[in-house]
Amino acid sequence: MNEAKKEMILNKIREYRRIMLFRHIRCDGDCVGATKGLKEILKATWPEKEVYLIDAQHSDYLAFLGADDEPVPDALYADALAIVLDTGTSDRISNPKYALCREIVKIDHHIPKDAYGDYEWVEEHRSSCCEMIVDFYSTFRSELKLNSRAAAFLYTGMVTDSGRFRFREVSGDTLRCAAILLDQGIDTERLYAHLYLEDFDYLKFKAYVYKAMKITEHGVAYLYISKAMREKFGLTLEAASSAISFMDSIRGCLCWIAFIENDDEQQSIRVRLRSRFVSVNEIGERWRGGGHACACGATVYGRKEVRALLKDADARIAEYKNTHEDWL
Ligand code: AMP
Repeated sequence: MNEAKKEMILNKIREYRRIMLFRHIRCDGDCVGATKGLKEILKATWPEKEVYLIDAQHSDYLAFLGADDEPVPDALYADALAIVLDTGTSDRISNPKYALCREIVKIDHHIPKDAYGDYEWVEEHRSSCCEMIVDFYSTFRSELKLNSRAAAFLYTGMVTDSGRFRFREVSGDTLRCAAILLDQGIDTERLYAHLYLEDFDYLKFKAYVYKAMKITEHGVAYLYISKAMREKFGLTLEAASSAISFMDSIRGCLCWIAFIENDDEQQSIRVRLRSRFVSVNEIGERWRGGGHACACGATVYGRKEVRALLKDADARIAEYKNTHEDWL
């Protein structure tokens, strides 16, 4: 699928001596895994090329994957190829210097909204962008080199973005790509320990959240995490935001939403929306956001907008439940 687009991207990679890799703000396992994994593949295949991954943002829970590159002078961007991974819209690219590069390649699996690349390969049915990088490797495996470091990075993204191979985007291709990585020899026991062990205090936070969560009339589970709550448990924004996953297995709750107060002056509230069976990305898009059909984000301001978004989501779920019978 999309063979011509992949061929074009490979030609661009061959053509450039310097390549800069970019990912989205508030990095997650997929964009970190995809950028680091692709960097390893490029360096192993073409040791003479300069490949940079520069990003001022980082993620505590992914720190075990290692640091990115140190900043370089702006002049180095000018004759480089930019490859932007896992980022649907240009305003979400973390390092704004991508715009200095001579040409831009976009490789992504989000619902396309913004065609910012000179060359684009977007497959929204893919469970992760890492899966696309493995597919890219697999297509050109006679030329590209994959090592065990690259495999571990890419597997991290595949596991995290697919909910441990559980989400509906997981296909036969997903597992075939995962198999290619596992064949390289990944220490999965250690990887899962890094990703999923929880601190004692975090479990206490979990208990608190389970008590505090609420549900709307038609079954939207939700949770509001204030700054005070974060401070009480000594949590970073990132750790507090992960509370979205606590609500993912409630029978009858087809949609679940976490509202997390940000630290900015505008007092914005980050919204994380998740669902099963029913798509909710239109709700995210109505509230300054977007993403995937069943996993998207948004931003709201003030309790009034929180209530309005919940009403919006509740109406969507009511409509879905009224017109479908096989939901759980
Ligand atoms: P999150 O809840 O932040 O993990 O977001 C879920 C998915 O939606 C991720 O793939 C994000 O990249 C994407 N996403 C989150 N916020 C936005 C936004 N404002 N615009 C477009 N995509 C978003």
